[in-house]
Amino acid sequence: MKDENHRVVRYIAVFTDLSSRKFTDSLVDRLVNYDPLTELPNRLMFRNQLKKAILRAHSERKQTALLYLDIDRFKTINDTFGHQIGDRLLQQVAERLTKCLRESGRTRRGDIVARLGGDEFALVVNDLGGPDDANKIARRVWEAFTEPFLFGDRTRRVTVTIGIALSPRDAENVDDLIRHADLAMYDAKHQGRNTYQFYSGRIQEKNSTRLDLENDLYNALERREFSLHYQPQVDLRDGRIVSMEALIRWNHPDRGMIPPDQFVPLLEDTGLINPVGEWVLEQACRDCLQFGKILGTGLSVSVNLSGHQLRNDLTKIIGRILSRVGLSPSLLKLELTESLAMQQVQETIALLDQLADMGIDVLIDDFGTGHSSLSYLRQFKISTLKIDKSFIAGACLQNDNGIIIRAIIGLAHNLNLQVIAEGVESPEQLEFLRSHHCHFGQGYLFSRPLPLSEIAQLAGRRIDRNGRLN
Ligand code: C2E
Ligand code: CA
Ligand code: CA
Repeated sequence: MKDENHRVVRYIAVFTDLSSRKFTDSLVDRLVNYDPLTELPNRLMFRNQLKKAILRAHSERKQTALLYLDIDRFKTINDTFGHQIGDRLLQQVAERLTKCLRESGRTRRGDIVARLGGDEFALVVNDLGGPDDANKIARRVWEAFTEPFLFGDRTRRVTVTIGIALSPRDAENVDDLIRHADLAMYDAKHQGRNTYQFYSGRIQEKNSTRLDLENDLYNALERREFSLHYQPQVDLRDGRIVSMEALIRWNHPDRGMIPPDQFVPLLEDTGLINPVGEWVLEQACRDCLQFGKILGTGLSVSVNLSGHQLRNDLTKIIGRILSRVGLSPSLLKLELTESLAMQQVQETIALLDQLADMGIDVLIDDFGTGHSSLSYLRQFKISTLKIDKSFIAGACLQNDNGIIIRAIIGLAHNLNLQVIAEGVESPEQLEFLRSHHCHFGQGYLFSRPLPLSEIAQLAGRRIDRNGRLN
């Protein structure tokens, strides 16, 4: 302040405490850019960082890798253990992923881990020389999941599926790079999860074929493009045919016969497995009445079930079909894969109890390939174990496969279960199975799966010592 002579006589200082303003700013920044649960960058910040990384990779002639990561069966984990455990798992995943990016305690410039929402995470890794470097990172991330996670006071294994795309190699903008990494991840899920997969043009092609097929599947049932083939299951003791396994076929108008391995997963993804599965059940039951007429009564039919069909109303659906068709429940068998049965054990136990009450036999398919808990096996009301064909294959049964087959047969005998071997192709395999008292067999040696119209040729035949139907 100056006096009348313009001399400075006083100073006034004004000051403001900015700390609360700074605090608010940083809070807003956190809310906008970070995920509150894991404290990782969220989708918004991830996109911004990715954009910068792509530009830099381009100008510095390096590659940036985008790893797109999804926890396998997270929904089941959440449903089974509750959201609190689910949240805690996501936090542990975040920690592990963050560690993956650290080298000697520091994260490199521009590398980030982000949570994109739900159980999806992304990693951006910069300055890579090429696919080899990316491969190393992918391997490191995948290996971070080999150690079990904490689930409350217990530990459990959790697996992830990872899709990877590189920029500029696979894409030069944010949206394309994300789409390609996502496609690679989707493809890896289809290959059975718990793996990682790089993007390639081939995946794009596969995906469009898949979308085409998916589209055609919607009309296939109505257009009567599905049919069932039947493969005999024979009693190895007297050579008689005891049952027929129903195997679905899709006669595509342009592509011809499409094997079930290629479209059953699509039926499952689209939910079409429910109507189609019901059609299979009903058609198989009707056909079973035909076998009775052609091949003599008492022959049963065996139907494969998919996971989505294992719901509470399955027994109702089957009950309705049986009464509509007029087939005795004792002539219907259901094949349930081992991995399916083990997925939701308590539900499976309840369902198997109900089916047993109805008088329907269930067998465990592909036995030996999944993770069986032998204690649960005791609680499952099942009649039969089916030894997976991968053990029967490999002509020399003196090796490990032979030991496994013998172990499964022994297990079945001890649990008072029947045992059937699938994929029997040679007289040597037949001899091996017979000498170890395997009850039943199925495979090309006896017969390929046949359409109903060719079943009559089996009438009155039995398997001879060499497996020929005479
Ligand atoms: P799966 O239940 O393990 O069926 C046995 C598969 O092995 C069939 O393949 C059969 O044709 C084949 N096979 C039979 N004998 C031999 C042999 O001696 N050697 C070899 N290498 N293979 C043999 P397919 O018909 O292609 O069926 C593949 C899978 O598709 C089935 O495996 C089953 O998991 C699924 N599937 C088939 N029909 C249905 C259905 O109606 N519903 C559901 N949910 N799945 C089905
Ligand atoms: Ca089967
Ligand atoms: Ca099988």
